[in-house]
Amino acid sequence: MTDRPLTVDVDGALTAAAPGEVLLRTLERIAVSIPHVCHHESLGALATCDTCIVEVDGALVRACTTPVRAGMRVRTKADTARQAREEAMQRIAANHELYCTVCDYNNGDCEVHNAAKLAELEHQRYPFTPKPYAIDASNPFYRYDPSQCILCGRCVEACQNVQVTETLSIDWSAERPRVLWDGGRPINESSCVSCGHCVTVCPCNALMEKSMLGKAGHFTAVPEPVRSASIRIVKHLEVYTGFAPLFVASDAEAAMREQTIEKTKTVCTYCGVGCSFDVWTRGRDVLKVQPRPEAPANGISTCIKGKFGWAFVNSDDRLTSPLVRDAHAFRKASWDEALDVVARRLRDISERHGKDSVAFISSSKTTNEECYLVQKIARVVFGTNNVDNCARYCQSPATMALSRTVGYGGDAGTMRDIELADVVLIVGSHTATSHPVLAAHIRGQQKLRGQRLIVADIMAHEMATRADVFVRPHPGTDLIWINAVARYILDRGWEDRAFIEQRVNEFDAYVRSLEPFTIDDAVARTGVSADTLQRVAEIIARGGRVCGLWAMGLTQHHNATDTCTAISNLLLLTGNYGKPGTGGYPLRGHNNVQGSCDFGALHNYLPGYAHVENDHARAPFEREWGVRLPAKPGFNNRTVIDAIHEGKVKGLYVVGEELGLVDSNVLYVQEALRKLEFFVVQDVFFSTTAEFADVVLAGTPSFEKEGTFVNTERRIQRLYQVMSPLGDSRPDWRILRDLAARLGHPWAYEGPRDIMAEVARCAAIFAGVTYEALEGYRSLCWPVRSDGTDSPLLYTERFNFPDGKAKFHPVAYTAPFEVPDAEYDLHLNSGRVLEHFHEGNLTHRVPGMHEKVADAFVFVSPALARARGLADGDWVRLTSRRGSIKTRAVVSDSVRDGELYMPLCSSNDRVNVLTSSDADPVVDTPSYKETAVKLERLGERGASPLPRTHPRNGHPTPQRGVEVQHKWARPDYGFPTGDPAVDATKTATRAPNAPNHSRHDEA
Ligand code: SF4
Ligand code: SF4
Ligand code: SF4
Repeated sequence: MTDRPLTVDVDGALTAAAPGEVLLRTLERIAVSIPHVCHHESLGALATCDTCIVEVDGALVRACTTPVRAGMRVRTKADTARQAREEAMQRIAANHELYCTVCDYNNGDCEVHNAAKLAELEHQRYPFTPKPYAIDASNPFYRYDPSQCILCGRCVEACQNVQVTETLSIDWSAERPRVLWDGGRPINESSCVSCGHCVTVCPCNALMEKSMLGKAGHFTAVPEPVRSASIRIVKHLEVYTGFAPLFVASDAEAAMREQTIEKTKTVCTYCGVGCSFDVWTRGRDVLKVQPRPEAPANGISTCIKGKFGWAFVNSDDRLTSPLVRDAHAFRKASWDEALDVVARRLRDISERHGKDSVAFISSSKTTNEECYLVQKIARVVFGTNNVDNCARYCQSPATMALSRTVGYGGDAGTMRDIELADVVLIVGSHTATSHPVLAAHIRGQQKLRGQRLIVADIMAHEMATRADVFVRPHPGTDLIWINAVARYILDRGWEDRAFIEQRVNEFDAYVRSLEPFTIDDAVARTGVSADTLQRVAEIIARGGRVCGLWAMGLTQHHNATDTCTAISNLLLLTGNYGKPGTGGYPLRGHNNVQGSCDFGALHNYLPGYAHVENDHARAPFEREWGVRLPAKPGFNNRTVIDAIHEGKVKGLYVVGEELGLVDSNVLYVQEALRKLEFFVVQDVFFSTTAEFADVVLAGTPSFEKEGTFVNTERRIQRLYQVMSPLGDSRPDWRILRDLAARLGHPWAYEGPRDIMAEVARCAAIFAGVTYEALEGYRSLCWPVRSDGTDSPLLYTERFNFPDGKAKFHPVAYTAPFEVPDAEYDLHLNSGRVLEHFHEGNLTHRVPGMHEKVADAFVFVSPALARARGLADGDWVRLTSRRGSIKTRAVVSDSVRDGELYMPLCSSNDRVNVLTSSDADPVVDTPSYKETAVKLERLGERGASPLPRTHPRNGHPTPQRGVEVQHKWARPDYGFPTGDPAVDATKTATRAPNAPNHSRHDEA
């Protein structure tokens, strides 16, 4: 096939078309409007609705599935084509009651409504009869109305092939087909993970967000009897007037809604995937979240949190004004009073005890501009590098590993590269729970394109159970098997010698470092079979383009930096950098953990990774800020706790970070917080950390401010203000600016745009970043040159070292800090669940999430449960050398005997009471994943913390998509011919025994 445009004849006009595109796309491009319902820009053609029929060279075809051919003669206005489209639309109308004016979906984008108008539907030919199934409203977030379902199958396609949870199907064999969850379960008892894909793509009101119901329209809140009566009246009118005037009325009503519903683009505040979407609001009511195909990281995808996790913004618990502690109690204070106290007390400490006696912790949930201001206050106002963010708890080892080997501490490419890869290697990442949309896209590539998936983890989590190869090493031994795989590749000469010779230094030292790592040694020390390791080596070396992904299962170990380095070395060895579909991808956890580092909230780096010890790197900042900057790294998040205990740090300012819960060895951390002379917490809720504060400042969540986030792809995206700050809370950037002014630094920022302009002036990797270039859904992946060119894929020409070459960085194995012994006999792993982000401070305030998972628990293996007499819901005590907590057990075969898993989202006892203060010696990231505990059964049984309605209890029904061939095989289906006499004999999926005369005839 040639790529040159070809010419087609559309209704007598010659038109250029792209080879390979389908006719519907060509028609859309030249603004020839024909109806279509099942086709979706992101799903493609499903061929279920038949409404886009046109005549091509004298035959009727579906425009959505017909590829363009040079010279084809297309007649969209041919009578038979128009009549065939009208027939198809009549069949849809038999499955969908057109009561648009009182429908919550009548928002201008109802595709059934719009297609009915385009198909010139005049009167209803086949009467609508409800399907004999009840509305299913069991899911906390959305409901399905079978009687409004037109059986287009978009939802099935999205669930099967985009989300790939494989819950949905259509029962084409039923007399009245409908959509099924797990083959016929109530939604809330199925495997549905509430990602919302199906609701997002449904072209009508069959699947709707509950938050829209009764709220979207001017007449949609009317009580049911009134609503049914109005529908009856409208339908009666239709018999006499036809649909046209009714469509005019509903279009007018939709236009009125447009005046009262705001649609604002934002970026998700949860994980590092960085999904963006429109938020529909009326006042403070969040009506729905609507992702759009042009969203660069996610397209139409979301997970449960991004789609449905926003009720917290209106929570009664929100901080709505500053609080100041008097003696032992907090009282509300004015902003003037609170900021005066903060300025006075911090200045006083700094003057009495020295510049480094105060410290700042920024938030990975706040914007880049806010992180920039936190570090600027630390450095410029207080003259200290004591500033950090929660990347210390998770991402620092990966950043260091990539800085050592390829130069930039960020993902090598984008989601697109991960999709393009032939092989995806995931190590120590519960991707399906922690980066759900990315996991969905990987599942899709595996299912539809045959991408191979290798997963290494101590737990058999969802992605592990789907993997082509599952590597299950002993805890803390990943470096051994990774290096053994590298040596095996070398021994067979499978390395990419040309790439190494041209682009990588230190090969010989790397080869020597691999000598101890034989397959036999790895088998003995990791417990992984030789076959498995050899297969992994072969797939990585010979399977095509490889992306290596990893997360906290790797970075929260004592040897984390070296293990992350081993992965990057392996990718260099096999030539997997600098080409589409390759590279190293440490998956950033929080939505803006990448940005908070990029914008300088680090104890050793200024914005753009200018090292504080480098005079040349500091110079542009000293010029811009007009000060001499401290040249010695400060305390980081972990060392600052020791410094408080030692009396070196007396004042602490924490923005949006729950260190009183999420830090490792949290009792030690809380003890430090009690010792502070003065402690400020800036947050949206009164957190556990705030309990230790002297002043609490009421910040705002992402919906209530403007700014930018950087996702795991290094992608900078703008968020726009969805609603006003609640009460007297204030955007964090404004609080920080006003505080600096009280401390003698009256910075003239009128908004985040001004802050970004300043960053672009002094940080080279952001030189070309402007708010204009980030308008709407546009985005930039750093580094961004001053001419605005960005870098979605790094290292295509040079690595980020002076000679442009990457470096192998030899690493050796270090044993874990703590392993089970006779007394503390079990290994404890910790992490997230899908429904709650991290510790759950936001998501526990979303009732539906809380309904799905109300509290944390500990997974115990079936063998351990049998040995200890445990069942789901049994209360147990877990004790480590640091502390002791109570929780409930859930029996799960995802963990091995001798290993436990506990999520962070407890409402009470927290897992970090048990974890230690040990840390990776290179970057100080705590060894959260190296905790030995003992477990005691307490003899009480509670309800299972994972209720029957949790998706883990579901039974998916995988299939290739909507499987329209089963519809076509029905005896009552016939392709619309445009001949009423023929079509009337085939009226698939309309009401059985419905007469074939029109309602007009009836009248
Ligand atoms: S998992 Fe549930 S919400 Fe997501 S697409 Fe499938 S049915 Fe819809
Ligand atoms: S519920 Fe599914 S099949 Fe029914 S109209 Fe909506 S997207 Fe189409
Ligand atoms: S939590 Fe992550 S995957 Fe889910 S919608 Fe938000 S950014 Fe996307």
